[in-house]
Amino acid sequence: MSGERKTAVVTGGACGIGRAIAARLLHDGWAVMLFDRDAAAGARTESELAALGPVAFVAGDVGREADVQALIAAVARRHGRLDALINNAGQMIRKPVIELALAEWERVLATNLTGAFLCAKHAAPLLRDSCGAIVNIASTRARMSEPDTEAYAASKGGLVALTHALAMSLGPMVRVNCISPGWIDTGKDAAALRPVDHAQHPAGRVGRPEDIAALAVWLVGPESGFVTGADFVVDGGMTRKMIYAD
Ligand code: NDP
Repeated sequence: MSGERKTAVVTGGACGIGRAIAARLLHDGWAVMLFDRDAAAGARTESELAALGPVAFVAGDVGREADVQALIAAVARRHGRLDALINNAGQMIRKPVIELALAEWERVLATNLTGAFLCAKHAAPLLRDSCGAIVNIASTRARMSEPDTEAYAASKGGLVALTHALAMSLGPMVRVNCISPGWIDTGKDAAALRPVDHAQHPAGRVGRPEDIAALAVWLVGPESGFVTGADFVVDGGMTRKMIYAD
């Protein structure tokens, strides 16, 4: 390994859950490459997180193979190693299925599923060299749904399956796991959370990005060496809650 520090790539790292994972990794002594299509937010996050440790932002789209290749080349040039890939970039569309255009379906799949495939494919050689790990950020929507969310649900279900396939193909050198978050408040929605939003969760509150970051960091660390191909639901208990109308 050429670099001293363990190095991670966090896709969709400009904000929300990705940013929290990046911050936690930096806090724990890692070097982090942020990858995001939002160039302005990425540059802002890079400068805000710089006090925590070595962080660099690369702009690009996870669904475009040339962008992913350029990212991995930048990682190799800058750090000479890659120890963790966090496939976090994601997008959602809510639209009745009969109105959902093929291009819209394909756009969601391109980011949420194809993007993870492309990043894993091109990161695999470096991850093998370092006995590294991949964490895919899926969703509880891989296993339960609201109406009008077909593309997102299908993409996240695919990501859970991609996780165990990659774990078989890249192991034993590279471990591959998945986190399925429930409702995580990233501060993006203008409306404040209501008491009922928290109270309906068996854990008593809506999730925070740090809840996901804590598990992601464990999954790329040495203490999870016997864990691969798994999907961890982090949802405050919501998918275990039985719901009947009163
Ligand atoms: P955010 O929308 O806050 O952040 C996602 C980031 O990824 C944005 O900066 C976004 O850019 C970027 N991005 C989107 N598409 C691409 C792409 N093709 N290439 C590169 N970057 C891209 O999301 P969250 O932090 O809320 O979610 C992070 C992950 O967690 C997602 O995969 C999401 O599906 C998953 N998740 C989130 C939950 C939640 O409650 N927040 C619940 C369950 C799962 P832009 O702003 O331009 O779209």
